[in-house]
Amino acid sequence: MKKELLNNLFDSYSTYKAASIRSDFITHQELIDKITSLIQSGLFSIEQIGKSIDRREIFSIKIGKGKTKILAWSQMHGDEPTATAALLDIFNFLSANDSFDSLRKSILQNLEIHFIPMLNPDGAARYQRENAFNIDLNRDALRFQSDESQLLWKYAEKFKPEFGFNLHDQNSYYTAGRSNNPSAISLLSPPMDHVKSINYTREKSMQVILKIREALDLFIPGQIARYSDDYEPRAFGDNLTREGIGVILIESGFYRNDYKKDFVRKLNFISLLTAFETIIEKDYEKLFYADYFDIPENMKMLFDLLLRNLKLEFNGRTFVVDVGINRTKKYDLQKQEFYYEGTIAELGDLSVFYGIEEENLEGYSIQSKNELKVDEPANFQILKDFTPKFEVANGFLKSS
Ligand SMILES: [Zn+2]
Repeated sequence: MKKELLNNLFDSYSTYKAASIRSDFITHQELIDKITSLIQSGLFSIEQIGKSIDRREIFSIKIGKGKTKILAWSQMHGDEPTATAALLDIFNFLSANDSFDSLRKSILQNLEIHFIPMLNPDGAARYQRENAFNIDLNRDALRFQSDESQLLWKYAEKFKPEFGFNLHDQNSYYTAGRSNNPSAISLLSPPMDHVKSINYTREKSMQVILKIREALDLFIPGQIARYSDDYEPRAFGDNLTREGIGVILIESGFYRNDYKKDFVRKLNFISLLTAFETIIEKDYEKLFYADYFDIPENMKMLFDLLLRNLKLEFNGRTFVVDVGINRTKKYDLQKQEFYYEGTIAELGDLSVFYGIEEENLEGYSIQSKNELKVDEPANFQILKDFTPKFEVANGFLKSS
């Protein structure tokens, strides 16, 4: 996509953003309401393709009459809604009439795109990765025990798309290579076997990924990573690739200060439109697929909070330790609000790692893994925000 068009899309994004939809939590009812309004627009063809284990409806939303077939599904992990929100933005974009009409018309004439947003509505309702009986759908592409997994597989088998977009969220601990740059977006062409063979199908998905990377480089240079390509025989991407579908996995990661994930949602919007355009123009074919391996690896180099250089006293001796604290975002279904659960993920020499927030606590001491003796750290509020599990007691942070 031309730079000017990309910049215009980036600048005009808010016009298409489904404003009432949060990027970090979407209810099944909100999705149904949006789908109802899409039906009224007459542009999309919408079908209830099945139900989840808990009998929630799952939909496909089709648009375009072109020759090239694309399938995009989101939220097979219930607590990964960012791309579902981005798909709703894409629907708004495709429904509009404005200066982007030539791109829009080209998409509708050249592509037939089927979207399956929120494949795991039961997990979404619980704000959990797994489905209603607590299995990971992306580890169910061999046994197909779950209704949702069967549904996706049968749909892909029948539709036979040339490309498949598998849309996820990843946590904030990943960096683009060995750096302290969080991976805002990480991309994967899933392997087909343990030796990571590359055939024509994978070459194509790698080339499209290179186009997405080229586009995102304009907005988030150094924050795009290549997701681990270890073969997972139970995963959808790996199995669909073997079926000849050029699968492109997009992980919405962390961008600094974007805790509500609005910005990475926008990056999804840009990534998908870029991919659609290059699939139409076929200019991805001009790229050398193996350049894909130059994208920095998605590495686990970050903690949410890294406390450096604390003293640890033990058996009358003194040691120097760093403390890596991670906080998990959880949803209180009764109060209907998010909260964080902080845990000490690692203690020891963490000098090779980074923190999204960091504090040098030289001069302070820790007594055990669960008791941080920190009288007046430079930024005490950060500790409290990141470790709600720990209470402030007598100038200490103590495990509650
Ligand atoms: Zn996922």
